[in-house]
Formats: sequence, C-alpha cells, structure tokens
Amino acid sequence: MIIVMNGKTDHSDVEKVINKLKELGHEVHISQGEKRIILGVIGNVENLVSVPFYAYNGVEEIIRILKPYKLASREFKDFDTTIKVKDIIIGGKEVIVMAGPCVVENEQQIFETAHQVKASGAKILRGGAFKPRTSPYSFQGLGEEGLKLLAQAGKENGLAVVTEVMSVNQIDLIAKYTDIFQVGARNMQNFVLLTELGKTKKPILLKRGMSATIEEFLLSAEYILSEGNYEVILCERGIRTFENYTRNTLDLSAIPAIKRLSHLPIIVDPSHATGRWRLVSPMAKAAIAAGADGLIIEVHPDPKSSLSDGAQSLQLDTFAQLMKELRPIIQAVGREFGSSLENELERIKN
Ligand code: PEP
Ligand code: MN
Repeated sequence: MIIVMNGKTDHSDVEKVINKLKELGHEVHISQGEKRIILGVIGNVENLVSVPFYAYNGVEEIIRILKPYKLASREFKDFDTTIKVKDIIIGGKEVIVMAGPCVVENEQQIFETAHQVKASGAKILRGGAFKPRTSPYSFQGLGEEGLKLLAQAGKENGLAVVTEVMSVNQIDLIAKYTDIFQVGARNMQNFVLLTELGKTKKPILLKRGMSATIEEFLLSAEYILSEGNYEVILCERGIRTFENYTRNTLDLSAIPAIKRLSHLPIIVDPSHATGRWRLVSPMAKAAIAAGADGLIIEVHPDPKSSLSDGAQSLQLDTFAQLMKELRPIIQAVGREFGSSLENELERIKN
C-alpha cells in the first residue's frame, strides 16, 4: 500500500503518518519527490484499513499497488531513479558506458584496457575477479588479486569499477574494492545473496536471469530494495530462446517495457546477449535507440588470447569506433554523452 502526500507537507506532519504506521508494526519506505512524498508499506496491511489516514495533514491518496513488486514499481515512485557513483550519475540524461574485459587476467591487460576505454569515453571499468564459469575447468578468475588490479586500474584512470559478487561470503571482500556490485544472470534468483546485498550501501548492477520474465526480474530487484538499498541498476543481457546463432536473444522490448513498469535505470549488455563481437556494436546502438540508460560492453586488448569470452569481446579500436558512432544516436533520443556532474545534479533538482 502507498500513502501519497503532498510534496510541500510539513516535515512534522509527514512524521505523524510515519509514526502511526510504525506504531502499527510496519516498516516504511519513503520516496521523496518534488510534488509528492510517497510512503510505502509492504506486506499485510489489513490493520491499516480502519485508520483514517485521509484525516492527516498532507495525505492526498491511498493506493493499493496491485503489482507483485511494489518498491520497484512506477506507482511507488513516479520519477526516474538516479544513482550517483563517484562523479557519475546513472539514470540521468547522460548515457553511461561501462567497459572492460570479461575477466581481469593480469596487470598489463587491465591497465591498457582501462586507459583506452577511458580515452574513448567510458566512465566505468568492468572486470571479473570471481567468475561464474559454465565449466569448473575454465579459468575462474584471479580472486582478490584481480580485485586489487581492477581497483588500481580504475583509480589511476579516473574510472569507477564494477565487478561480480557470486556469494554472500564474498560481499565484504569485494566491497573493499568495488564501487558497484554486479549480480550475474545465474544469480538473479539467489535470494539470499540479493537480501544480503540489500543491506549494503553500494549500488547493485542486477543482470536479468537467462530465463527470467520481466516480472521475475523486477521481483529480484524488489528483494534488494525491500532491505533498504534503493540503488539498483537493471541490466538486460539477453534471454535463452530457440535461436542458437547468437548466444542469447537480446530482448530490446524489455527496455521500454521496464521504463513503463519501473523507475529503476536499465542498461544493456550487448556482449553476453549476442556472444559475437560483430553483433555487439549494432545491438549497442539499438539499445540506446530503445531508451537504455547505458551499456556494459566487453573489451579486450587481444580478444583471441582472452581467458574468457574472447569471441564477444571488442578490440580497443573497435570499441573506440563504436563510442563515436553512438553519439548521433544518443543525441537523436534526447540524451547526452559526457555531461558534467553539475549539469546532471541541476537537472535532478528541477
Ligand atoms: C559477465 O558480465 O561477465 C557475465 C558473466 O554476465 P552474465 O551474468 O550476464 O552472463
Ligand atoms: Mn563475460
């Protein structure tokens, strides 16, 4: 259930409603907008039915959210969520590109990649240290050594970093090095992991499970939000279909669909979606045209020697070319490339 209050309501009047809800045993999630303040209560709300909330100052509307996901829904928040990572805003007007290798392999590889993707306009460096490989015999990542290299390469090149966390017992270690936790497709429904990440204070990049519906995807985000971490970035990375020319099938329609259903930012991973580097640039462009807030792309200085996902990794110059070609598309859909933090913050205020 949500209680919609006028955005100009006195703080003490808002507190009165919150206190009443708490007194009746409810946890309250607050979404503070310019025009409206929304108080969300999740779970059994039967004991609220007889409370005359309309009699409280500032209360405009009481609505039951019928969708199974609540905090992730547009009903709970009617303006887009923006997430600040260092001096970057995700979900604002600027399109944000994350790029880097599938897995951190050595110092030379990650530093060279970081330097080049930064020069091309990427803002966030990706790189796995703990990898969810399909085969137990494949390279599993460098572990903490990989995290250290990723963090150093990011720092020296002025890039934020994102890396995957596969289990609860890795959270504390990875938190020391990363700016954003990535939850991979294979873990989208690892509810214990989602719950624990919901208790952290870092943004979560949540990838869509390979056979997850949009509703299941948003319910996974809800697990994180309901624990109090509202900074979830969704990532469409392709789903399994009967087509096997591509590694997965990129569900482009999920972008506008999720924009309607949810206030959370959504980015696209054309690398895992296609599995073929030649298809990455066209699908990256299509994703931006469809309204994605950003991209996450695998880039490697020498894809043929890559220890993971070489076939879908862009070479550094191909990535640079893509970044150039994206600009007119970004402009055409009314977005920006390389906006300053000040501009973004100003826009969010208004
Ligand atoms: C990755 O980003 O390297 C990855 C393993 O992606 P996904 O979880 O989408 O398969
Ligand atoms: Mn990969």
